Amino acid sequence: MKIQRLKTNPEYPYVYETHLHTCEASLCGRSSGADMARACKEAGYTGIIVTDHFVYGNTAVNRSLPWTEWVNAFCRGYEHARAEGDRIGLKVFFGWEACYKGTEFLINGLSKEWLLAHPEIRDCTIEEQFELVHEDGGMVVHCHPFREEAYIPSVRLFPEYTDAVETVNATHSCALSRSHNNPEFDVKAKEYALEHDFPQTSGSDIHRIDLLLGGMAFKRELEDSADYIRAVMNREPCLLLNGNESL
Ligand SMILES: [Zn+2]
Ligand SMILES: [Zn+2]
Repeated sequence: MKIQRLKTNPEYPYVYETHLHTCEASLCGRSSGADMARACKEAGYTGIIVTDHFVYGNTAVNRSLPWTEWVNAFCRGYEHARAEGDRIGLKVFFGWEACYKGTEFLINGLSKEWLLAHPEIRDCTIEEQFELVHEDGGMVVHCHPFREEAYIPSVRLFPEYTDAVETVNATHSCALSRSHNNPEFDVKAKEYALEHDFPQTSGSDIHRIDLLLGGMAFKRELEDSADYIRAVMNREPCLLLNGNESL
């Protein structure tokens, strides 16, 4: 398949896909971590954050497994992406997408080792999630807060338990997207972020190698997940891409 290329802005040359799924860990994922890494490298991304669906989301991993086994299987998509990224020169960061009855959050800044040591994250409430993630320097991003879809019973907002808001989700707004198409969802997310003065993120919510070319373009290279959190929370200058820029 021919991979579309990002149109990069010379002032913001470092582009990161912040919302990406793999078929190893997400039931709706269509491509492996390694294939996703290769496609993103070819498209011109500097890095990706693998954010597979967590225990109560659309996980591809049997929920009845003991925690350690569940985490090991859950991390496989990331690990395959990471190994390929190391080989080809693409930064690969770890995250996940937690689901609370259709309300979803991207979690950044923690690791597989952290998950293994914190089984209480599995069944915690949204309030507890915020505390647990914060205790160890992580970040909670409310992603696509205004998406309306059969799997989301209602739009629910948790401003007290949110660090940042995904205001651009390319599956909503990119002309290439074949699901959840409604740019209005992003307009509402932006209004919500402005109302509460939340830092904003952008990601494609990509599940396959025919990329949507969304993400965040920065002026500098990001070292790791902690550096990504700093860039977002300190509101470093960046472009929030919805993919249409590249078409
Ligand atoms: Zn999915
Ligand atoms: Zn997602």
